Amino acid sequence: MTFDSLGLAEPLRLALEAEKHLKPTPIQIKAIPVALEGRDLLAVAQTGSGKTAAFTLPLLHRLAADKHHRVPGSPRALILAPTRELASQIVERIHAYGRRLKLNTSVIFGGVPHGKQIKALKAGTDIVVATPGRLLELLNNRHIKLDRLEVLVLDEADRMFDMGFIRDIRKIVRFCPKQRQTLLFSATMPPTIAELAKEVLHDAQRIEI
Ligand code: AMP
Repeated sequence: MTFDSLGLAEPLRLALEAEKHLKPTPIQIKAIPVALEGRDLLAVAQTGSGKTAAFTLPLLHRLAADKHHRVPGSPRALILAPTRELASQIVERIHAYGRRLKLNTSVIFGGVPHGKQIKALKAGTDIVVATPGRLLELLNNRHIKLDRLEVLVLDEADRMFDMGFIRDIRKIVRFCPKQRQTLLFSATMPPTIAELAKEVLHDAQRIEI
């Protein structure tokens, strides 16, 4: 199996070559074609499996295929992650895979002043990677709107639950349009996460590795 056979756009394939990602990992083989179809995904996958690329690549493919005007404070994709470290790593991967695409990415997390994050949102951003607490604050203060959102990703959903973010996540999802693609990744699938999945996913394909 090669990345060429997964149906990803040329700029992404070139970036994968530059990153020395020669072959897709098992989670990527299963997740990428389903996500490229536009379907929702419930994926059980651990850190180290290549899960970040499994959701980042189809997301970038989708946004690049369908060009839109950038609306300040109104991203087309949102990735929720439990910690600022993970959020920063995801942004780093988006920059690596999306270097040939004209997409702007902002990161939002707590524990730092709001100013720079708000300014970046106002400047116009296609993709927001965020921890739930600070994002909800910015939503409540109307610094960000999610009514143009096309893709929602929940990464490490079980860890977000363990960190007490489940109520924030439910509130954030209520700001999102019903018509969207949702990808949920979790290392484990306890009943609480299965319940959340039922609420936020629509006709999802479940994959495990
Ligand atoms: P993750 O599970 O997303 O945290 O990824 C683990 C590591 O594997 C990261 O450093 C990725 O850059 C790397 N990686 C992801 N996909 C591939 C691939 N297909 N080939 C080689 N390395 C990869």
